[in-house]
Amino acid sequence: MEKRCKSCGSDIWKLVAKNECKRCYPITNKIKAIESWEYRKPESWLKISGFDQTVLKSLNENEFEKVKRELITQFESRIYLYKRYFTKSEDSMSLEILLNNFSQLLSNSDKDREWLFHGYADIIDKELDNKSINFICKQLLWILINRRFKLDNVRIHQAISS
Ligand SMILES: [Zn+2]
Repeated sequence: MEKRCKSCGSDIWKLVAKNECKRCYPITNKIKAIESWEYRKPESWLKISGFDQTVLKSLNENEFEKVKRELITQFESRIYLYKRYFTKSEDSMSLEILLNNFSQLLSNSDKDREWLFHGYADIIDKELDNKSINFICKQLLWILINRRFKLDNVRIHQAISS
């Protein structure tokens, strides 16, 4: 029997430790490291690549916990993306949202950050069967999965002031 990653369900990525694949295991480790950060113990703030920790020093305890939560959410959403690719089936609404996400990713001005494919789910359902819809969604997800993961610092700062 093939072994699947216990976090994302992948059977193509090599399992490296604790039944997790080479993509999920480092992320799970980062989540664990962040969970163990203690406000009053800066020495417990193990470094997370791509995150500027000097921000933490200026925060009160409440803000500090919000940043922790936001960082964990961002890493978890990466694992969720993998899990979605390997275990879920997609529908016309997913395709509509993915097309909108891609058009926003590719847009080069703030002005055209509109939802180009708003309301497209009905059109997609008329044009394509479920199998085709699922297939196209998987290819778009695969592009997202293979983009380099970067923490969203804008969202981190929004979390502090929320
Ligand atoms: Zn995995």
